[in-house]
Amino acid sequence: MTSSWFSHLVRPELAGVEAYVPHAGSFDVRLDANESPDLLSTEAHARVAEALAAPMLNRYPDATARELREAVAARAGVSADEVIAGCGSDEVIAILLAALDKPRPKAPRPRIVTTTPTFVMYRLSARVRGIEVIEVPLDATWDLDVSGMKRAIEFGQPNIVFIATPNNPTGGCMSEDRLRSVIESAPDALIVLDEAYVDFSTTNVSHLRREYPNVVTLGTISKIGFAALRVGWMIGSADLVHELHKIRQPYNIPLPSQRAATLVLRELKGEVDTLVTHVVTERERMTRELEQIGFGVAPSQTNFLWVETKRPATEVFDGLAASGILVRSFAKSGGRLARRIRVTVGTTAENDRFLDSVARFV
Ligand code: PMP
Repeated sequence: MTSSWFSHLVRPELAGVEAYVPHAGSFDVRLDANESPDLLSTEAHARVAEALAAPMLNRYPDATARELREAVAARAGVSADEVIAGCGSDEVIAILLAALDKPRPKAPRPRIVTTTPTFVMYRLSARVRGIEVIEVPLDATWDLDVSGMKRAIEFGQPNIVFIATPNNPTGGCMSEDRLRSVIESAPDALIVLDEAYVDFSTTNVSHLRREYPNVVTLGTISKIGFAALRVGWMIGSADLVHELHKIRQPYNIPLPSQRAATLVLRELKGEVDTLVTHVVTERERMTRELEQIGFGVAPSQTNFLWVETKRPATEVFDGLAASGILVRSFAKSGGRLARRIRVTVGTTAENDRFLDSVARFV
């Protein structure tokens, strides 16, 4: 950071952190951010638009987002007291880190344990709060390395363990027996199982939340076609939710988002199912076609593909970008990620354009 009049006031951790900025620029086909295509029917669009046209703009929204939390709770078979909603699950992650940051007896600073590679916000959000991050590499099949996780938990004494399943960017789920071993090795830490992509997966981990009192799950509507609303949530024990409400901004979810997200969860299940069927069908087709032309593709339970390129990922990324197609390259991470790109499943036409262009880089 360049020196400014306020430099002496800024928390030192910011010096080593870059702001999270999605790739800028204009691209015909954006397959970089794990959004889903807009396949809503005209009728559903009209209903969402009506929900967004919120009356009473002069009043604050419901501070407790009661209806939205009830909609999440009904879908998950829990009570609304076991749900906290956030401006995306990003905000829920930040709330958890802010609330649970008391250093453990043998730890000088609060710590979290997570995997690598995984969703970057666990790491970023922790670091800017002065929380130490221990990252345990996933194994060769992108599954949990149980002994590595156990060592990190034993020596690191983390407050929170973040595990995404299915995982971003690798696309697969963590095996349940490995998850159980990790959970059982950390009875004093909060285990956050992030299910952002669960709608595209054949399995879920909600039963682990019911079995273990220290397990919570995260969810979002961002991946099922409603990223613009910025609505995510955590499901966990009512006493934890009670504490988290104290940290949350009082009106953290704007009224249009509360209303539209409630509608999506309560009444647009058919539309979401149509989207999920499209994504899963296209995901399998893209996997087959990519494999046929010589790319390695990890089995995906999400709305994106984790693709191994023969050439350095930057070359593939730049070539696709020059054709107006944006994907996510992991070249900068180096090591075993140097030849990996992540490609979101788009509309059939977008996927076709990607497949045509990428064939040049075998
Ligand atoms: N968790 C995971 C694993 C993700 O990949 C993402 C989005 N990239 C999020 C959470 C954030 O979701 P939201 O839009 O709800 O903040």
